[in-house]
Amino acid sequence: MRRIFDVKGRPADNPVIVHVRSIEDARELAEVPPLAERLAAAYWPGPLTIVLPARPIVPDVVTAGRDTVAVRAPNHPVFQSILERLGEPLAAPSANPSGTPSPTCAEHVLSDYHGAVPVVDGGACTIGVESTVVQPLHDCVVLLRPGSVSREDLAAIVDVPIVMPSAAQVGASPGTRYRHYAPRACVRVFERESDVRTACGRASGRNSCVVLSRLPIEGVRDVRFMSRATLYDELRRADHLGVDEILVHCDGDVRADEAWMDRLLRAASTTETLPEP
Ligand code: AMP
Ligand code: MG
Repeated sequence: MRRIFDVKGRPADNPVIVHVRSIEDARELAEVPPLAERLAAAYWPGPLTIVLPARPIVPDVVTAGRDTVAVRAPNHPVFQSILERLGEPLAAPSANPSGTPSPTCAEHVLSDYHGAVPVVDGGACTIGVESTVVQPLHDCVVLLRPGSVSREDLAAIVDVPIVMPSAAQVGASPGTRYRHYAPRACVRVFERESDVRTACGRASGRNSCVVLSRLPIEGVRDVRFMSRATLYDELRRADHLGVDEILVHCDGDVRADEAWMDRLLRAASTTETLPEP
């Protein structure tokens, strides 16, 4: 378990998600309140991680000494069969050096670790961003990390507010505190096409850049088309090209996608802000 932290260079205070086969497995590890039962019934197996009060059986190294444990039932058949054969819950983070873009296919892991860790190849990820992380409390559900199970998906299942974490709750979920998912190149996000064009013109004068967009941008050649599923792949590709800047055009659809925007803003090394969609 400690080797996971060594290999990833992960801060010891960042707890690891425990993967389970079902809600029954989760009950062995944690207290499962009714709100959590309902969310798990709706979205497990799937990309929803639920932070719950941990039972003493969960080792401190997994919870980073906290009194909560984050559990998730994955829906990938290969991972499900690993859990089935193991017959026990499995603590497992994403297979990337801490702080770098998460891997979305086996090649990313092989290249990040230069083949030093064994890889089970289950094919490319279809969602492309990490799981939604929630903490059901007595009278609300705290959205600790947005993901493809959206705020609306959560609200459709529970009749309490879905709330953003307080400063203290962010502290309790350290992964959301760090600059995360960042490539080496400077990521800059823009709302308007015209601003992308201007930045692109400046960049071509002194440094190199790639432009990511869902849509063509008039006057800009070589736009790389991104989707949420290919975002991390595109960030990595830009790093392999050795460019200085990654210019990202966030149209209304991108801005309306909370998980997509969250990852882009975390990857962005500048503080240019975008208005609400
Ligand atoms: P990763 O394993 O890299 O996908 O990240 C897991 C995310 O879940 C990180 O943001 C962690 O900080 C968060 N997390 C894991 N365990 C807990 C926990 N017990 N309480 C709160 N957040 C957690
Ligand atoms: Mg991770």
